[in-house]
Amino acid sequence: MAAYEYETHEYDVVVVGAGGAGLRATLGMAEQGLRTACVSKVFPTRSHTVAAQGGIAASLSNMGPDNWQWHMYDTVKGSDWLGDTDAMEYLAREAPKAVYELEHYGVPFSRTEEGKIYQRPFGGHTTEFGEGPPVQRTCAAADRTGHAILHTLYGQSLKNNAEFYIEYFAIDLIMSDDGVCQGVLCWKLDDGTMHLFSAKMVVLATGGYGRAYFSATSAHTCTGDGGGMTARAGLPLQDMEFVQFHPTGIYGAGCLITEGARGEGGYLTNSEGERFMERYAPTYKDLASRDVVSRCMTMEIREGRGVGENGDHIHLHLNHLPPETLDLRLPGISESARIFAGVDLTKEPIPVLPTVHYNMGGIPTNYWGEVLAPTKDSPDAISPGLMAVGEAGCASVHGANRLGSNSLIDLVVFGRAAAIRAAEIVDPKTAVPTPNQASVDAAFDRFDGLRHAKGGVPTADLRLEMQKTMQADAAVFRTDKTLEEGRQKMVAVADKMADLHVTDRSLVWNSDLMETLELTNLMPNAVATITAAAARKESRGAHAHEDYPDRDDKKWRKHSLCWFEGNAAKLGDRPVHLDPLTQKDEGGIDLKKIAPKARVY
Ligand SMILES: Cc1cc2nc3c(=O)[nH]c(=O)nc-3n(C[C@H](O)[C@H](O)[C@H](O)COP(=O)(O)OP(=O)(O)OC[C@H]3O[C@@H](n4cnc5c(N)ncnc54)[C@H](O)[C@@H]3O)c2cc1C
Repeated sequence: MAAYEYETHEYDVVVVGAGGAGLRATLGMAEQGLRTACVSKVFPTRSHTVAAQGGIAASLSNMGPDNWQWHMYDTVKGSDWLGDTDAMEYLAREAPKAVYELEHYGVPFSRTEEGKIYQRPFGGHTTEFGEGPPVQRTCAAADRTGHAILHTLYGQSLKNNAEFYIEYFAIDLIMSDDGVCQGVLCWKLDDGTMHLFSAKMVVLATGGYGRAYFSATSAHTCTGDGGGMTARAGLPLQDMEFVQFHPTGIYGAGCLITEGARGEGGYLTNSEGERFMERYAPTYKDLASRDVVSRCMTMEIREGRGVGENGDHIHLHLNHLPPETLDLRLPGISESARIFAGVDLTKEPIPVLPTVHYNMGGIPTNYWGEVLAPTKDSPDAISPGLMAVGEAGCASVHGANRLGSNSLIDLVVFGRAAAIRAAEIVDPKTAVPTPNQASVDAAFDRFDGLRHAKGGVPTADLRLEMQKTMQADAAVFRTDKTLEEGRQKMVAVADKMADLHVTDRSLVWNSDLMETLELTNLMPNAVATITAAAARKESRGAHAHEDYPDRDDKKWRKHSLCWFEGNAAKLGDRPVHLDPLTQKDEGGIDLKKIAPKARVY
């Protein structure tokens, strides 16, 4: 057994992650008098949420008529009828409250002439249950909305005496023999000390796993650590086959050009100079939902109408917009276009390509953020002591495809919901559980094994092999053949984990070891993604299957689950929640309005 000394810490709640979801949860917990620690592997305001540009969706009606039922309908349709109806209602209903709270906490939103929060159009957000014109629902702080939210929430968390453990890397969950989460083991990166946090509630807010792919808009820190820890704790991951490709990553660099660019009037063209989206989505054109636009772009390229020397990308035009609008509403992307594409967007189009952007799947939860431990008889059973929020979680409000600006609102609505729920179920007066020593020892053993790994494959090489495989075979277009080949390749890649080589054995700022731990988290996320994708024989949202072009609600309107035993993935499923929280006669949604139909824009 590996012998490490460690410090112990006791809290009511430990939140792992300091992005928008983690900070909103931390702030909410602390506000309600729970002793709360927030652990983060990067400085809080460097979390990926800082990069969110376009904005946050809420039916404030500042720029025209809107209501939460329309927002809910768009979310249901966006999800391609895979989201949980109760969670989607909760999201749309609570969104305005959550945004006004952010405003009162101090988020510097852009303003209208009358001083109200500025809202812009975003793909898939409409009026009149998809029958009316696009709606301006996305609240924005110029094109730096995530930056504004993150800084405000960090300041507020400090004000409420939340305690931060910054540049601490969470290694594994500590679980009791009967499946209660009791805390988390962490490694302090800058001095090499080890820390055991015991808590009555652990909240995973570790973000997405975009870095399982070669080209992604997300930060290099988005390595699905929460999903990895959850899988190792014997709990499943849900709906992992649904990976969102953003239509406009900068060609080559992968950096994001926000959908707000098309919201402000930008449009796409092919090599013939044609605005091809008019052909595919006559009503909403360039503002159709993301999976639709990404697929159309891929189709244009495959049919030989891509732009550039190799005909392998598409042009995004903003050069027809007044320079004042670009300056005022999109200053950040003007800079990105200049630096990463060498383009002056007032004069020339930006070269763009669909790029991995968001993970709809994750750790299954209910709409309070409580993690589920589903069984056949009890698909909504709760895993005690554990919550998951933000991109790491799967509530599920995004189903098979997330609408733009629906993630930032997911972070704050469910970060807040987790805090409300924790205040109900965590009693500050009871003692913190004594951590299960066998679980602590197992976590140290795994850590020590990786630290001294002396196989033949360097971490960086294996990571690249995984990323290239995922990029090639778990992409926008999927067929039985590519998915099955990809799945087999990924099984072989995952098996090489046993042969990893770590060069640096020290404990202080050992980035080699940290990246190895991250790879052990990326791997189950990647394997689950391609395994679930190979199994789902239909097309739904981001999962566009060439051999099964139609959605099959009879067979496949269900959440997929993926458990791990070592590297081996085992699939299962659980039903989608079809009932809303409130019915029409209670002021809720008219079920007829959200009944499944073909998803056209
Ligand atoms: C470029 C870009 C632009 C976007 N724009 C928008 C937008 O305009 N609107 C919108 O709605 N959505 C947008 N999204 C999506 C949205 O920003 C993300 O889904 C969201 O920010 C994720 O937030 P999060 O709090 O879940 O995780 P993150 O912000 O990724 O934070 C994860 C946190 O977990 C911590 N962490 C992770 N692993 C560990 C570990 N092992 N130990 C300790 N700490 C750990 C990290 O330190 C970090 O603090 C965008 C995404 C990208 C990539």
